[in-house]
This record gives sequence, C-alpha cells and structure tokens, in this order.
Amino acid sequence: MKISLKAPAKINLSLDVLHKREDGFHEVEMIMTTVDLADRIELTLLEENQIKVDVSEGFVPNDHRNLAYQAAKLLKDRFNVGKGVLISIKKNIPVSAGLAGGSSDAAATLRGLNELWDLQLTIDELAILGAQIGSDVSFCVYGGTALATGRGEKIKHISAPSPCWVILAKPPIGVSTAEVYRNLKLDHLEHPNINNMISAIDNNDYQLICSQLGNVLESVTFKLYPQVQRIKEQMERFGADGVLMSGSGPTVFGLVKHESRMLRVYNGLRGFCNDVHAVRLMGERYY
Ligand code: ATP
Repeated sequence: MKISLKAPAKINLSLDVLHKREDGFHEVEMIMTTVDLADRIELTLLEENQIKVDVSEGFVPNDHRNLAYQAAKLLKDRFNVGKGVLISIKKNIPVSAGLAGGSSDAAATLRGLNELWDLQLTIDELAILGAQIGSDVSFCVYGGTALATGRGEKIKHISAPSPCWVILAKPPIGVSTAEVYRNLKLDHLEHPNINNMISAIDNNDYQLICSQLGNVLESVTFKLYPQVQRIKEQMERFGADGVLMSGSGPTVFGLVKHESRMLRVYNGLRGFCNDVHAVRLMGERYY
C-alpha cells in the first residue's frame, strides 16, 4: 500500500518578533501562505517495524535528523504502531531557504501516515502533534493562509489573498534560523503592521498587500549575507509589485500580478541567480 502527497512551501507575508520568552523561544506573529512549489512524498507501508527514509538530495539527512522521520517516529511511539513505513522524499523546495521545506515534509508525513496506519486523528490533532517537531509544522499540516502566533504553532485561519505570481530567488547559501535569531536586536526593530496586512487580505486589496509586506528578520540576514539584500534590490528593479525575504532567508520572494511582468522579473533574475522559481500563490486551505 502506497500514498503520495504534495508538501508545498510557505512564504511569510509578514513576520514580527515580539519578545524572547523564558523558555528560550521568541514570541512571533506571522502571516503565512502557501505557494505552488512542492516536495513529493511517497509513503509505502512496511510490514517490518521500521522507519526508513530515502531522499533525493544527498545533503538532506535520511536518518532520525530528517523531520519526516521525526513525524513518523512521533506517531509510532504515541500510538504504538506495530507496522513500518518507507518515506521517499523528492525535494523540489530549496533546503535551508526560509520556505519551511523540512516542516512541510513532516506535515505531509503526519497527514499521510494518519491514513496509511489508520490512526483516525483529526487535522487539528495532527497540527498539535506537529508542533512537537517544529514551530512551522502546525501551519504546514493545514496549508492555506493563517496568522501564526506563539512560537509559530498557534494557527488562526484567515482568508486567502487573491492569486498572483510569486517569484522565488535563493542565493547559493543556507541560512541558520538560530543564527539569525541570535543576532536579532529586539529593541531596534521596525515592526510590520500585521493588522493592516490582515485587512488588506480581507479586502482583497493587492496593492495594499504589496505595500504592507514586512519581516523583522530581513535586516539581520542582510547584514550577515549582503547578497540577499542585492537580490531584493534586483527584484524591485525588475518590477515586482512587492518584495520580501521569507522567514530567516535567504530566499527572497516577489509578488507579481501580470504574466508579462512575471516573465521580465524571472528572466532578469536568472542572470544573477541559479535558483529562481516562478509559481502561483496557493492561499486556499487544502485540509
Ligand atoms: P524554516 O523556513 O521552517 O525555517 P527552512 O526552509 O529554512 O525552514 P529546511 O529546508 O526545512 O529549512 O531545512 C532546515 C534544516 O533541516 C536543514 O539543515 C536540513 O538538513 C534539515 N532537514 C531535516 N529534514 C529535512 C527535510 N525533510 N527536508 C529538508 N531539510 C531537512
């Protein structure tokens, strides 16, 4: 028995950090939405009591360090599952990119194993379990568009922004989220206005969405890796309607309404950066 799933990437339209908590995590407020760039996950039932991982990218771990492995192990231990699984992951989402690729693989594994192992958990139960694996996993269990608070695991669904093109450009570096947070100066932040972003989305006001994009981690990553800022400037110069770094970076995304403009931005960036994708925003919830 086999199940195939899509594990799509996310972008942050807004990312704010409020303060550092006593448990060491940062309290955040983020607007997350899904884009149509996805890893492919295939789950094959194994009669032997084992979790095996096979990944298409050599530098992504295929053992207990893989977030999809951790998702399977969590369900297996919690619900005393006597069967095993082979998790095959075809990576399309750039790794360590600020696009939650690993979290989305873990979320898809939770959804798929719920069926494969017939656990009969609700989607909300899967999202709560996902938070034990990583802060972005809960959002990825649902997909769609949401306000994420707490350390990112408290999800409030909001309406979907109207569809548009999203150009993703990743310079050839990986960014450590922990390093970015370590370098964040909490007293010197220019906070994005999350409420304005929510009403822009609610009112389907594309121009306002573009003008309200904001991410407090941008300045930290730009300082550590100036090439990320240069990609943002290029994307603005080529005519994207709104441009922002996603998560802790280094991927920069640009929103573009019209296809002809999208092609101009896409082709322009390809001259500077190998890892460029033009995809659609997929803000409707799929689970
Ligand atoms: P986020 O946006 O949630 O901060 P990210 O996009 O920056 O995530 P990932 O691509 O999820 O980062 O990878 C971060 C780290 O997780 C990498 O060091 C990678 O080796 C490890 N990892 C574990 N499992 C996976 C997986 N299934 N896919 C990709 N990376 C994984």
